[in-house]
Amino acid sequence: MEILIKEAAKRAGEPVLARRYITLLRKIGMRYNVKVPVEIRRQFCKACSSYITGARVRVKSKTITITCGNCNKITRIPVG
Ligand SMILES: [Zn+2]
Repeated sequence: MEILIKEAAKRAGEPVLARRYITLLRKIGMRYNVKVPVEIRRQFCKACSSYITGARVRVKSKTITITCGNCNKITRIPVG
């Protein structure tokens, strides 16, 4: 899992490859019934499985808002 995420991060500049890694990561998660860690989930878009680069990250009161640069999907993460 951690190896995969590192590999995906390395390939952040190559969207196709990165996406492949993320798809793989999710499949593994489903197969072994493990949740993808929060810090990892934050790095990827739920909607399009892209590694989030150049995304807009905004910290509002107790919420982090991440806008995916690829599909413009907004992910909100509660903090604290
Ligand atoms: Zn997206």
